[in-house]
Amino acid sequence: MNSADIATVKTLLAKPQKIVIIPHKNPDGDAIGSCLGLAKFLEALGQNPVIIAPNDYPKFLKWIPGNEGILNFERENSQSKRLIEAASLIFTLDFNHLSRTGQMESFLEAATAKFIMIDHHQQPSDYALVTYSDVSMSSTCEMVYNFIDYLEGVPDITKDIATSLYVGIMTDTGSFKYASTTSQTHRVVANLIDKGAENMQIHQNVFDNNTPARLHLLGVALNNLVILEQFKTAYITMSQEELDRHNYSKGDTEGFVNYGLTLEGIIFAVIFIENREEGIIKISFRSIGGFSVNEFAREHFNGGGHTNAAGGRSDITMEETTIRFVKLLEKYKDKLTQ
Ligand code: 5GP
Ligand code: MN
Repeated sequence: MNSADIATVKTLLAKPQKIVIIPHKNPDGDAIGSCLGLAKFLEALGQNPVIIAPNDYPKFLKWIPGNEGILNFERENSQSKRLIEAASLIFTLDFNHLSRTGQMESFLEAATAKFIMIDHHQQPSDYALVTYSDVSMSSTCEMVYNFIDYLEGVPDITKDIATSLYVGIMTDTGSFKYASTTSQTHRVVANLIDKGAENMQIHQNVFDNNTPARLHLLGVALNNLVILEQFKTAYITMSQEELDRHNYSKGDTEGFVNYGLTLEGIIFAVIFIENREEGIIKISFRSIGGFSVNEFAREHFNGGGHTNAAGGRSDITMEETTIRFVKLLEKYKDKLTQ
C-alpha cells in the first residue's frame, strides 16, 4: 500500500463506518482467517464490522474465535443483502474479481460503498478505491498483518487476531513450505506467536481432525489417480456418486490434489471434483516450478489463482472434461517437460 492509500484508509476509519467484510466463495483458511483477523482489529478501532461469506466453509475452520458471527449469504440472504446495500465500506479479502463471490456479485456491483481490496492473487480487477494487491505475498493474512502495521496497529494485535492470521498463513503456505514463504513471513509468524497464537494447537485444530469419511475419500482419490509421465502430470477424479457413497462433507477433499505432486518427476497435479448440484466439475490445479497453473486455469477452465496453485471449473461431464484436459496437455507438452 502506498502512502496515499494509507492516508485514505486512515481518514475512512477515523469515522464510524458501516463495514462489511467479504471472503471468496468456498472460503479457505486464508479467506476466513483474514476476515476474522481484520474484523477483530476494526473492532479494536471502535468499528462494528460484519463478515458475510458467500457460502458455507469447512468444519476445520469453525473453531476460530469469532467465526460463529459470520453470516452466510445463502442462508442469511435478506439480512446479508440489506447489510451490503447499507454498507459505507466493503473490504474484499483473498480475491480480486467480484465474480469470485458467486451469487453475491450483482449485489456488490450495485453497492454504493467504497471498496478496499486486500489480496495476493494475480491480475486484480479495478473495483476498489484502495487496492492493496501483492502477488509476492504468502497469504492475505500476511497482508492483513501488514495492513494493521501500516495503521500503526501492531500493539493492538490480540491473541484472537494473532490466531486468525496464523491460520491463513499456515494453510496458504502448506505449513510454511511453499516458495511464497519468505523470511518476512516467518518474522510475521514469530510476532503472531509472541502475541499469543498457539502454533501447535492451531495446527492440530486445522489438520488433525480426520473423520473416517475423509480417510475413505482419500482412499478413493488415491485409487483414482492417473499418472501421465509423458506430461509430468498426475490427476485425480472424484464423482458425485463416490462423494455420496462416502458421506462427503465440505472440506473433506482439501489437500488431496497435492498428493500427485509428491510423485518423483511430477510437476503438474490436478483434481476434478463433480458437483452435481451446481452442475459443474470444480478443479484444483497445482504445480512445482515455472509452469503457471494460473494461466492454464484462466485460459481453459474459467479460473485463476497463483502460479503454482489455481482453481477453475468445467461445465461438461467428468469424462468429457478429462478427455479435454488430456488433449490440452499435448499443447503444453514442451512447457511441462522442458
Ligand atoms: P483451490 O484449488 O484450493 O480451490 O484454490 C487454489 C487457488 O486458486 C486459491 O488461491 C483460490 O483462491 C484460487 N481459485 C480457486 N478457484 C478459483 C476460480 O474458480 N477462479 C479464480 N480466479 N481463482 C480460483
Ligand atoms: Mn490466499
